[in-house]
Amino acid sequence: MAGDSAVPELDILAIAAHPDDVEQTCGGTLIRAAEAGYRTGVVDLTAADMGTRGTPELRVQEAEVAGRHMLLAWRGNLGMPDARLENTLAARLSVAAEIRRLKPRVVILPYWQARHPDHYRCGEMGYEACFLAGLRKLDPNSEPHRPAKILYSSLYADVKPSFIVDISAQFERRMDALLSYVSQYGEVHEGTALFPTEAEIRERLGAIARFYGNQIGVKYGEPFVIKEQIRIDDIVTMPVRSI
Ligand SMILES: [Zn+2]
Repeated sequence: MAGDSAVPELDILAIAAHPDDVEQTCGGTLIRAAEAGYRTGVVDLTAADMGTRGTPELRVQEAEVAGRHMLLAWRGNLGMPDARLENTLAARLSVAAEIRRLKPRVVILPYWQARHPDHYRCGEMGYEACFLAGLRKLDPNSEPHRPAKILYSSLYADVKPSFIVDISAQFERRMDALLSYVSQYGEVHEGTALFPTEAEIRERLGAIARFYGNQIGVKYGEPFVIKEQIRIDDIVTMPVRSI
């Protein structure tokens, strides 16, 4: 299930626990990067086999449609166990192998604190896999590669972002990507108490994107946390007004 034979080298790789995570948290940023000419990709660790609605096969098909909306050059699924993701050596090595194959310059991970254990484990595994991927002796049959930058997507974390990306022009495309998960967000009757309708999900995600956009003076935004400081070379042209 993982990937395909024609593997492109990527500029940006988002690593997510579940199909439909990046569509909520950093999809606008991926779309914007693809529009700017960068090669973007997503690896989903699980196929959401514990989900109430749909099947893992259906979710992977929906993820491929969503990936086309997000202009991804590549999307893969590692088929790890959903809702019980474990940060084992074997799991880290398989993520590291993807990083060595895809050679991303930037990796986007879920923020390291979250309600869902899969999300924070994915963040932890992703970081450790990025480190492992750079070790020459890890695997004699593949070249070492270590991404230069790791961004943590913090949309659902109650933390102050390090920066916010303007996704005003990408928001509708990101929403189309999310609504590709018809098994999750379509208007069906079973389990409606648990699952939001399309109208509800539009309103909810619109409100969150608006909240972050407002902080940088644009309509819609996506927040990120980085562990390093941001270097500024020209303080005169810094964006976002103070008063
Ligand atoms: Zn998730």
